[in-house]
Amino acid sequence: MKKSLVVITGASSGFGAEIAKLFNQAGFPLLLLGRRVEKIEALPLNFDNVLIEQVDVTDYQAFETSIRKAEDVYGPVDLLINNAGVMLLGNVLNQDPAEWQTMLNTNVMGVLNGMQIVLPAMKKRKHGTIINMSSLAGKKTFTNHAAYVASKFGVHGLSETIREEVSGSNVRVSLVAPGAAETELLTHVTDQGALTDYQAWKESMGGITLDPVHVAESVKFIYDMPQEVTIREIDIAATAQDA
Ligand code: NDP
Repeated sequence: MKKSLVVITGASSGFGAEIAKLFNQAGFPLLLLGRRVEKIEALPLNFDNVLIEQVDVTDYQAFETSIRKAEDVYGPVDLLINNAGVMLLGNVLNQDPAEWQTMLNTNVMGVLNGMQIVLPAMKKRKHGTIINMSSLAGKKTFTNHAAYVASKFGVHGLSETIREEVSGSNVRVSLVAPGAAETELLTHVTDQGALTDYQAWKESMGGITLDPVHVAESVKFIYDMPQEVTIREIDIAATAQDA
């Protein structure tokens, strides 16, 4: 059977890159989005049915244009994985508000953008799945994570709201909420104190956190369920993670 188009945001590293590999191995046509397209192009993929577009998810127009371009080639999007995100740790007492804005724009607005772009057609076809990458920081608090926590609680809230709204149209909305994992997420943190605290916490759990492969497997598991079944949320963390 011909497989449907899968769109992955933030495919250039971390979870997104692992998700791309898994769906590529399974033969799905892919639209892979990110700003650093050279990193996507360097992934070990079979590029026969892969489209790569340089898209910042906060740019609605560019996001939509890339999806319409992919749909012209591969047909309608059946799965959108809103994975792109940033975590800029810092304490609200002294963090630059520009960092809060970057997180809210990327982690919340980026997800809303993607959902509005694909949902009308999914509702009309009565088929489709959206999987939003939230975090355990979307359900509980962590020191020095206030603005990030605000953004990920936002992802949890909007996902469950929209899941309820589109459930009658046979469209699925799911969340994956990982704990700390081995990706590039920490490399963008500018607050050295917050970074040192995070590294100390990680060391206290044995130094190695979650392998992103297992997050990718969780995403695939959600999608592989029959369309009439929605795994509403998967919380996944390293066994050694205490918080
Ligand atoms: P990485 O930093 O490795 O990956 C983040 C991805 O998001 C990159 O591909 C990056 O691509 C993309 N991205 C960031 N900003 C934008 C943007 N404005 N437009 C398009 N793409 C963007 O980290 P992770 O893989 O860990 O992060 C993926 C998701 O997982 C995020 O939503 C994160 O919050 C979440 N998460 C991560 C956890 C962890 O401990 N690693 C735990 C829980 C959740 P590029 O820079 O090329 O644009």
